[in-house]
Amino acid sequence: MTVFSQAEFDNHEQVVFAHDEATGLRAIIAVHNTNCGPAVGGCRFWNYASDEEALVDVLRLSKGMTYKNALAGLNFGGGKAVIIGDPKKLKSEALFRAFGKKLNNLNGTYYSAEDVNITTADIMHAYKETDYVVGLEGKSGNPAPFTAYGTYLGIKAAVKHKLNTDSLDGLTFAIQGLGSVGMYLCERLYNENAKLIVSDINQASIDKAVSDFGAVAVGLNDIYSVDADVYVPCALGATINDQTIPQLKVKIVAGCANNQLAEPRHGFDLKERGILYAPDYAINAGGIINIFFEQDPEGYSSDKANKKVEEIYDTLLEIFTRAEKEDKPTHEIADILAQEIIKNGGK
Ligand code: NAD
Repeated sequence: MTVFSQAEFDNHEQVVFAHDEATGLRAIIAVHNTNCGPAVGGCRFWNYASDEEALVDVLRLSKGMTYKNALAGLNFGGGKAVIIGDPKKLKSEALFRAFGKKLNNLNGTYYSAEDVNITTADIMHAYKETDYVVGLEGKSGNPAPFTAYGTYLGIKAAVKHKLNTDSLDGLTFAIQGLGSVGMYLCERLYNENAKLIVSDINQASIDKAVSDFGAVAVGLNDIYSVDADVYVPCALGATINDQTIPQLKVKIVAGCANNQLAEPRHGFDLKERGILYAPDYAINAGGIINIFFEQDPEGYSSDKANKKVEEIYDTLLEIFTRAEKEDKPTHEIADILAQEIIKNGGK
């Protein structure tokens, strides 16, 4: 396995492989960059096909957090963790406590939180052993509704820029993934009279979206080619790739999933096809913004968090306008803006 020379490594400051035999914990903790502050980013629990796949995922996610936190104007650096294995079989209080102890070894260089297959209850178990976790019950809590709110506002900005309307009434959204964020997002879109087409690997989630929001369910691979205005990736990353781009009939790609572009060149391909892409780490920053307010000296306030989340609308409009003016893909403009902030240590 190569580490330092692989593209995803991208000058990571630190990568820790953590193991606890008693609980079966196998985790990789990646700290990408702390120029703007301590690294903060969630932990994902996933049954990776190989350790290599887990490493690539955590490195990509960790770098994404550096850019996300910088662009959102938070004094956080970027990091991420993955726990390897089947969450249904492996999850236990002891495992999360073991994870918490591993975080202590990093001495506050990295703070962990919820991501795919990790709930606030899991993070509360880790909290019994460490102060280096955020997104806590009784404080900022579950970040997903805030991520959904920011993604919804980002979708509104994309619709405004591309379709020149403030209304979602009658527009069709192809939503992939009805998890913590996807389901909240469905509700917001449904409340604006949008039409929903959905896919998920979990039948119970599909049934809920169909009954609560009048969604039409399609197969896992059919979601890319449906007649819709917006493709909304809310499951895992890399769904914008050589296979899916030619299938897309949408005008906009805007969703909460991390690392949506399989490779940066796919951002150019979307532009070529006239599809407006809302850069993932710009549109999905709502959850981390909410977590940021956990450390507010005046105490956590969801009102303050929501106000900051609302800035996502303007950030995206700025990216879209500049991309158009400079004839560049939107992901490249987002990178330029974020890199400038990172270079200046968050100023
Ligand atoms: P989640 O685990 O609650 O939901 C993911 C959903 O996707 C599940 O319902 C799962 O069944 C479904 N899914 C998995 N594979 C699929 C496939 N091939 N096709 C269709 N559906 C599939 O996770 P979440 O917290 O809702 O996060 C969703 C995405 O948003 C992830 O990429 C995550 O990293 C990103 N994100 C989440 C947050 C947050 O606040 N939770 C913040 C920023 C980014």
